[in-house]
Amino acid sequence: MNWIDPHVHMVSRTTTDYEQMAMAGCVALSEPAFWAGYDRSSAAVFHDYFNHITTFEPQRAADYGIAHYCWLCLNPKEGEDMGLTREVLAFIPEFLERPTVLGIGEIGLNRVTKREMESFVAHVDLAMEHEQLILIHTPHLEDKYKGTLQIVEALKRDSRVTPDRVLIDHAEEHTIDMIREAGFWTGLTLYPNTKMAMDRAVDIVEIYGSERLCVNSACDWGPSVPLAVPAFAMAMRRRGHGAELIEQIVHANPAAFFGQCPKFVIPG
Ligand SMILES: [Zn+2]
Repeated sequence: MNWIDPHVHMVSRTTTDYEQMAMAGCVALSEPAFWAGYDRSSAAVFHDYFNHITTFEPQRAADYGIAHYCWLCLNPKEGEDMGLTREVLAFIPEFLERPTVLGIGEIGLNRVTKREMESFVAHVDLAMEHEQLILIHTPHLEDKYKGTLQIVEALKRDSRVTPDRVLIDHAEEHTIDMIREAGFWTGLTLYPNTKMAMDRAVDIVEIYGSERLCVNSACDWGPSVPLAVPAFAMAMRRRGHGAELIEQIVHANPAAFFGQCPKFVIPG
């Protein structure tokens, strides 16, 4: 079965991960810009990072027949620094023309502070000015409900934003209603322990249906599984769901969301 992982951080994974993902049926993936594990010391480091995810990673993926796409931003955690945000936002447009960039992301909130919100709004402005898709990170644990609500409210207030062109990720049972009711795409992250275990994700599909729903591994340098999407497919099969529904969630849905950017093409 062919599948797409719409949220991966391959900069922190090995080439063997690409190989195993390809052997398991991965045909495309997308890499949102994220926190490096430490606060970067200057805007120049982001410039290098954007170069890396628009040149080196697509080549590593292509060696295994996987199409690698990416999203650019200064992440929510470093968004606390408005000066740095402005410096980075100033050169993002020069990268938006590159053939594998799908839009702005993963933007959002981390500790749900006023300055993070300012940085988030500045990114949304940039996305709107350049007619870009948006991929959104929602905060984890106790900040998730409050942060998701603030993000959803801010986007609903902005008349330039078309909900169908925004995916809100790391959704959970208590945030999924507000995301779907406003017409956004929903992302479920299949982390082995801290976020969404497989059966919880299958429960959500059974309760809410599969429309505008994607699943991802969000694999990075933390505990995470690059093969989480096919593991979800297996969990779906075990619960008696057919190939058509599974294919919709792991392939057709992300392809439809990404396909709103004319640069998105699946190989083969
Ligand atoms: Zn991420």
